[in-house]
Amino acid sequence: MPQLPPPQPFDQDDIYRTLLESTQAIPWKIDWASQRYVYVGPQIEALLGWRTDDWGTVQDWIDRIHPDERDQVVRRCVELSQAGVDHEADYRALTADQRYVWVRETVHVLRNAQGGTEALVGFIFDIHERKQTEQRLLALQRELQALSYQDSLTRVANRRRFDEALEQAWAQAQATQTPLSLLVLDIDFFKQLNDCYGHQTGDQALVQVAQALAQVCDKCNDLVARYGGEEFVVLLPKVGLDIARQVAERFRRLLQEQAIPHARSPFGQQVTVSIGAGSLVPQPGQDCAGFVHAVDQLLYAAKNAGRNRVVAQAVLL
Ligand code: GH3
Ligand code: MG
Ligand code: MG
Repeated sequence: MPQLPPPQPFDQDDIYRTLLESTQAIPWKIDWASQRYVYVGPQIEALLGWRTDDWGTVQDWIDRIHPDERDQVVRRCVELSQAGVDHEADYRALTADQRYVWVRETVHVLRNAQGGTEALVGFIFDIHERKQTEQRLLALQRELQALSYQDSLTRVANRRRFDEALEQAWAQAQATQTPLSLLVLDIDFFKQLNDCYGHQTGDQALVQVAQALAQVCDKCNDLVARYGGEEFVVLLPKVGLDIARQVAERFRRLLQEQAIPHARSPFGQQVTVSIGAGSLVPQPGQDCAGFVHAVDQLLYAAKNAGRNRVVAQAVLL
């Protein structure tokens, strides 16, 4: 029977070195007192293009962090290292050919017998693809959120956005005892416009009205939203009745200038709106739904009084 060769004595250092230099995580060690790198795994060159001897002092590490996160990463790492706390940091690292790659560093603090920081050892991980996917997802999420708050036809805010903004503005006005105003607008004889020109032209008129409204409210904090159908609302935080009435009248004039054709309208055969404008300082215990309802009643008053007009009133709940 053939004899098996005796097991070879192995050198533990070789094993550790092979392990360290073949892993995806790039190891390094920094001597705390001199702030110098005493070891950087050769895999660093494949990731960042810098060779191991390009890493002299901690300053090399600092200089290769993207300026946007440099101060914050350095401050935090130094603080935690000084305090002897293990930590990790994500940042963009500069490559030798002047690109940036997302990396994650995990840092372990080695302490001396007195408990002081003696060295840092850590690993650098390539997280570039994961981070890019994460950022694409975040951008997509933001885009989706923006879309979920937008009326798809007119591109102004939708009812959902208005409801949220109203709740916020209401709470703020209640807390600070400042006025809050609301315009509720409805296009006059809109059904007849559809009947006369077709739905597509009706849609186009809605877009034009929304754009004109957005133009009037361009420079203020006001929120223009499509409330539904051919109804729009404008929320005016910190605005009293006089200004609200002025905004409403300015919009009516702008619409007049735009002269959107409407053959069946008695007002110069062009599109007009009726507007309810209400204002109040919300008192404790009052509810914003009641405010919207009250301003809606002002809109109906404008309709009943003949349309193409503003009815503005202080609202009492
Ligand atoms: P009033 O002067 O009393 O406001 O009369 P009106 O005809 O404007 O009001 P009514 O409520 O009778 O009709 C509203 C019309 O708005 C009916 C509906 O077909 C139309 N409408 C609602 N949403 C849209 C839309 O998104 N696009 C188009 N083209 N029409 C719409
Ligand atoms: Mg209507
Ligand atoms: Mg209408």
